[in-house]
Amino acid sequence: MLEQTGGAAAPEKSRNQHHALQVETRMRVELKDITSQIARLVERSGIESGQCHIFVPHTTAAILINENYDPGLRKDIENFLKKLAPVSPDYQHNDGNCDAHLKAAIIGVSKTLLIEHGQLVLGRWQGIYFCEFDGPRQRNLRVKLVAD
Ligand code: ZN
Repeated sequence: MLEQTGGAAAPEKSRNQHHALQVETRMRVELKDITSQIARLVERSGIESGQCHIFVPHTTAAILINENYDPGLRKDIENFLKKLAPVSPDYQHNDGNCDAHLKAAIIGVSKTLLIEHGQLVLGRWQGIYFCEFDGPRQRNLRVKLVAD
């Protein structure tokens, strides 16, 4: 994941930051674990307490928080979404990617997480996934870190 722009690289005290990241996906449907990259941004920000907003500016990609320990779960989520929104020629939006729009609509394009003690707050088994539904592509991801 490449970072295009952003705030200061060195830790600074309690200053809001924005980051425009690039995410490269390699498959049509891919749940890409971006937990460590986001956690690193938070740690480097120097923000002790605040919020981390994550936004995907696309209509066929999404952001998900769920278990990132068992890789089998990723497949199960993909298969579940495939049942809800199968690839089909029968959609009104017939440019070939309507299933991807529907999957993105179900998962959603943004999440807000908490920052406490200079760290991203996540449960022991939780991870952050960038969800690609119409890849492979070069995607954008926006992260805003807001200090209390
Ligand atoms: Zn479309």
